[in-house]
Order: sequence, then structure tokens, then C-alpha cells
Amino acid sequence: MKIGIVGSGFSGAVIARELALNGFDVEVFEVRDHIAGNCFTKRDSETNILKHCYGPHIFHTSDLDIWNYINQFDKFFAFTNRVKAISSNKIYSLPINLFTINSFFNKTFSPNEAKEFIREISCTSIENPISFEDQALKFIGKELYEAFFKEYTIKQWGLNPKELPANILKRLPVRFNYDDNYYTSKYQGIPENGYTHVIKKILDHPKIKINLNSKFTRGMNNEFDHVFTSAPLDSWFNFDYGRLSYRTLKFKDEIYEGDYQGNPVINYCDFSVQWTRICEHKHFSPWEKHTKTIITKEYSYACKPNDIPYYPVRLIKDKKILNKYFDAAKKEKKVTFVGRLGTYRYLDMHIAIKEALQAADQFLKK
Ligand code: UDP
Repeated sequence: MKIGIVGSGFSGAVIARELALNGFDVEVFEVRDHIAGNCFTKRDSETNILKHCYGPHIFHTSDLDIWNYINQFDKFFAFTNRVKAISSNKIYSLPINLFTINSFFNKTFSPNEAKEFIREISCTSIENPISFEDQALKFIGKELYEAFFKEYTIKQWGLNPKELPANILKRLPVRFNYDDNYYTSKYQGIPENGYTHVIKKILDHPKIKINLNSKFTRGMNNEFDHVFTSAPLDSWFNFDYGRLSYRTLKFKDEIYEGDYQGNPVINYCDFSVQWTRICEHKHFSPWEKHTKTIITKEYSYACKPNDIPYYPVRLIKDKKILNKYFDAAKKEKKVTFVGRLGTYRYLDMHIAIKEALQAADQFLKK
């Protein structure tokens, strides 16, 4: 049987491998001139630093099977993502933790005192927060919300947090101790040789053929017994029901001597600068030594037809269109939709891999 795979990010690559290992002939179609989707990493030609070309990617999961799976393809160095944030010209620690609370309010609270204080200043009357803003007001109160989330979120999503769903904020924990790990996952790391290397290894199988610069169109379906697509769901159907909204990112690189900001990621929470965050790539590979440094300023925009989509927005108007695409997708018997763009969900890498393994498994069982 011949299988077509659209896209060579984690979703496409993992499915390609699982099916090739089971004797299928697999052909991958990648529209860009490189594999690895938005996880793509590359050595910068001037500094030789491994660059996270489409934004920072820190692998984290609490699922031991997924951790063991990914560790087959490279050595993962332990890495704890400690994010700093600038608000009103002062530097803080994120996610909101006891250090953030104490520095912001100029206090020396213990965990219990901080909990009591935040309870007093937060809007506990909000019972079931639906919007991003209500979620923030209920759990951290107005001051912290306005300092760290309100303006950053407007820059990132182009929308007022009143219009955004609460689950975007639920990605971030609030802690009443000094744990400043951005994630709560059991396992966390960064591959020694970068994500492009990992995905290259996943795709390295004699039964997998990779076509770069190749757009897969629905008409090509007939050449395959089954197709797995991680391309944007609406693009698969030629935008018949309208366009789903995505955010795209633009990046501006700068090169300096030495150390620019002393941390991999610093978020800029205020409107006073247009970028949302600055990544300093060499701090994602602290086991390497470099005298120069390359930094990237990240800017978020509404995604236009020729832009690369990054974040599904999922507003009410999108959900209406989305349901039509879901109905159309159900009717496609020889096609499985996977990944962040194929399913229009804000997925992290570990979930994309888990779902890709499940999709391959279900297909094999059939
Ligand atoms: N967020 C914020 N301020 C910050 C960091 C995050 O307002 O300093 C909000 C913002 O709306 C963002 C969301 O929290 O989209 C989720 O943050 P996360 O770091 O998970 O975003 P990602 O790294 O996926 O862009």
C-alpha cells in the first residue's frame, strides 16, 4: 500500500516512520525547502549557533513513553525553561511564582501569606471563567494581570483578552513557591543536535521518500491508498467555507558579541515595544560555547494568505467555520487530519507526537 503524508513536522514524520516500519511505502510532501515544520533548527552561518528558526522549542512531557520515543533520535540534554519578563522597566520571573509576587508587590510573603494575599486581591466572585481576562482576574487579580498578561496578549493575539478563551491562560501555572520552571512536565530537554536532526532521523527509512518544495493537492489523493495531512485544515478544502484565523510570526535577528540578555527567553509584557519576546539562541544549547550571540525579536500578526500559520485563534467565528470543515473532513474516508494545523488546535510537540503515534496505530489496526 502507498501512503501520502502532507507536511514533515513531528506529526507527519512520526506517522511516516510508523507506517514505513510496518512495510508501507511512504511519500512525504513538504511545501517548504526544508523538513521539520516550525520546529526547524539550523546553525547560523555567522555565529555557528543552533537557531530555533521559528520560535523557541523546549521539549517537555510527563508521558514516559513519549520521552523514551523522542530520546531514540538524539541525546536530549536536561533543560529547564526559566522565562523572565519585563514589565514597566522591571524584570520578573515567569510563570507567576512566589518570587514574582514578592518582587512585584515589594513583599517577603511566605507561601501561605502570598496565597492569602492573592485571594484577597483576586476576583473570587467569578465562578466559571470563560474568557482569558476572567481566568486571570479570578486567579491572580487585576494588578498582576495588567502587568504581565493584558498587553502581551493583545500583542500576541491581536485581540482583547475579554474575547479570548480561558484555556490559553490555563497553559501557564501560578505557583506559591520559588519554582520558576515554565513547565510542570516530568521530563524536559533539548536535543543536542537540534530538532531538524531529530526529524531527519525519524524520517530516515528506506521506505520513506521525501519531496521538498512540493505542494500536495487534493487531486493527488488517487495516487495513494491513504493520506495523512498536517497542512492547514481550511487549505485542504481550498477555503470553501472561508478562512480560519491564525496568527503568524515575523522574526528579526541581531548579532552581538558575548551575552545579550543572559537568558534564553525574555518576554516583553508592555506596549512600549512591539515585539512579544526576545530569544537568545545560544542559551538553548548551554553545553556549547560561542563568543558571539544571535538574538531574535518575535512579532505577532494576523496571518494573511501567503504567511506561515503558527497559532490557531479559535474564536466563535472560527468555530462556526471549523464545524463545517470538521463535517467535510469526516466525509474524507481516505484522509486523516493530524497536527496543530490539520486539526486547528494549539498543540505542543509532545501531544502532536502522541496523537501521531495513535493515528498510525489506529490505521494499522484497521
Ligand atoms: N502570556 C502573557 N504574557 C507572558 C507570557 C504569556 O500574556 O509573558 C499569555 C499569552 O496570551 C500567551 C499565553 O499566555 O499566548 C500562553 O503563553 P505560552 O508561553 O504558552 O505561549 P507560546 O510559548 O506557545 O507562544
